[in-house]
Amino acid sequence: MGVINRRDFLTISSAFLAGSTVLGGGFVLSPYRQGEVTSLKSDKVVKTTCELCFWRCGIDAHVKDGKVFKIAGQKDHPLSNGKLCPRGLGGHGLLYDPDRLKHPLIRKNVNGKSSFHKATWDEATTLIASRLSEITEEHGPESVAMFSHGFGASFFKTLLSAYGIDTFTAPSYGQCRGPRTEAFKLTFGHGVGSPEGLDIANSKYLVLIGSHLGENMHNTQVQEFSQAIAKGCRIVAVDPRFSTAAGKAETWLPIKAGTDIALLRSWIHILIEEKLYDEDFIAENAIGLSELKKSVRDATPEKTFAITGIPVEMIVKVARDLGRYQNQALVHPGRHVTWYGDDTQRERAIAILNALLGNYRAKGGLLSQKTYPIPKYDFPKPKKSSRKFKSVYPFAGSIPSNEIVDRTLADSPESFKAWFIYGTNLIHTLGDQKSTIEALRKLKFVVAVDVLPMEITGYADVVLPECTYLERFDDLDARAYKKPYLAIRQPAVKPLFDSKPGFEIARMLSKKMGLPDLFPDKIETYLESRLKKIGHSLVELQEKGVFVNQDSGLYRSQNEKMRFDTPSGKIELVSNKLREKGFDPVPKYTQHPENPPGFFRLLFGRAPMHTFGRTANNRILGELMPENELWVNAVAGQDMKLKNGEYLYLVNQDNIKSKTPIRVRLTQRIRPDVVFMVHGFGHTDPRLKTARNRGASDADLISHLDVDPIMGGTGMNNNFVTFTREA
Ligand code: SF4
Repeated sequence: MGVINRRDFLTISSAFLAGSTVLGGGFVLSPYRQGEVTSLKSDKVVKTTCELCFWRCGIDAHVKDGKVFKIAGQKDHPLSNGKLCPRGLGGHGLLYDPDRLKHPLIRKNVNGKSSFHKATWDEATTLIASRLSEITEEHGPESVAMFSHGFGASFFKTLLSAYGIDTFTAPSYGQCRGPRTEAFKLTFGHGVGSPEGLDIANSKYLVLIGSHLGENMHNTQVQEFSQAIAKGCRIVAVDPRFSTAAGKAETWLPIKAGTDIALLRSWIHILIEEKLYDEDFIAENAIGLSELKKSVRDATPEKTFAITGIPVEMIVKVARDLGRYQNQALVHPGRHVTWYGDDTQRERAIAILNALLGNYRAKGGLLSQKTYPIPKYDFPKPKKSSRKFKSVYPFAGSIPSNEIVDRTLADSPESFKAWFIYGTNLIHTLGDQKSTIEALRKLKFVVAVDVLPMEITGYADVVLPECTYLERFDDLDARAYKKPYLAIRQPAVKPLFDSKPGFEIARMLSKKMGLPDLFPDKIETYLESRLKKIGHSLVELQEKGVFVNQDSGLYRSQNEKMRFDTPSGKIELVSNKLREKGFDPVPKYTQHPENPPGFFRLLFGRAPMHTFGRTANNRILGELMPENELWVNAVAGQDMKLKNGEYLYLVNQDNIKSKTPIRVRLTQRIRPDVVFMVHGFGHTDPRLKTARNRGASDADLISHLDVDPIMGGTGMNNNFVTFTREA
């Protein structure tokens, strides 16, 4: 290894890896071949919770001879209903991944050379405590930020809060669903929730706008989607690409990318002009109809056709159908919605459309959900910060991660000096990799807690190997849902290697950081104490896996008086809160950059068997989908002399080239001005032996971000690529 910057990316040498194998020296990926699994009888079945994505389905982990050999959907868990997505079924591929982080690592700089060294937990946690102490003494606890993704972060947040650190950010806000949350809050007074409060199963007419249900595999939503289809729900898919959902639709509208707000405004216009909206519902529950009507008057189908490319008769037909089904029609709010930087306004248009349909708490519409009642644990009150992080984006309900990057790069006494990163591969998540890497290089200290050696761990000073979700307890899961539930995550097997559960790591750190009494002696004590308060026991929940309350009050009753948590107490079709801060109170359409000549707009999405980096190296799932492909319109591709199946490199508008090639898929299922690829591939880290050099990474090519001025989300879809055969 040559001389490198102290924060340059580090890999672990193969010699080092060779010495780190455990499990009696002969460790194989999976204890059983796929074909053997059906004939095996489990010694025990552990009811726990999946963590291969944020959905957190209930799973039954089948264990034989101390090894998990099968994962199935938990019957009683309302998010799985006995079924799982392909990722969830292959979760033991992560558990038995030979490339997992196996013990703590510490970066050491000797004579200008930087390398990782195997460390004990005591050494690693001592170092973290002492570095955090030095940094917070010199710059204040406000100089430390924590990035996280996933449920397991909760005890680390408790720890850092008690220490006085209160800057917590999750890319799932600024890089994914934040604009939706803020738009629905501005309109209805509350967000859509996660899992979303949508009654898809009972919808009679469902409009999906760039929402790839079935590819973006949110188990329960996909189950509901199938139920809706079986019951004859009519589906409209608005998408530049003929997605899986479009394949189930009666109507595919191949919209010009970036023009969705124009289409939504036109539908609002038609619903109002033709009085197809729910007049009684709006009169009783909403404000701003006349201003809204005036503001969308110019959104005629004819003008909208010129912008979107959707024929006038189709625009009108869908609007009239929406009006016909009213309460039982639903315009899906989407999930990954950070596209163009005006995303809160697009989501506002979706929220307004749903409001006009009067589908709020109606069968087949938007629902408000409830949580299973359980008190919090009695942790000491977090230390108050004297310099609390204040976002520059007026409606940022959470801290956008890109703002932490910006604030780290800024030359100011208030810039961040240390990052604590839990379970999120920021290199592939945030977009604008250059800034992320520059910020990482500037930091005084970086801690990464992860299961796999994802790229981000290569920039850390200390890497802590957490065990997988199949080897640990976590906090109780009691998120708001249609059927309020309380679920457990518990270990199916003991932690492999020298990895540890998050609770134990946080507890070890708390002792080193001068907070010895913060956590109880073990997580079982913590869980038991919370459960006791509601008259249950840990053993009971461990046996059942989940407690479920029946849904109640999901649908509004006739003549029910509703109050919304907005300034007016009503649904706000026109937002004065936005107006007061200088934003359009009603969503307006603005044009986005056109493709430079010879370039295609780069769109990305998901595949059912892969999520983020968490599944990238999973050999079971890798067998199902080993690499991603680049969808290119067949005619456009032939014009550029591309061949189906050939491997090409991509070059973006800033002359940034993909690190790895991607296989071309010529198809008529996509517009000629865009290309599409599945996110989560193109890893180059040699430590990820399965994922390495498989497909290409969209993240490498997203060098341009359009930041939403309302809440700070990063629009990523104004990036363009062309092709080269040169390696
Ligand atoms: S949707 Fe799939 S990956 Fe996500 S929690 Fe459920 S089973 Fe796991």
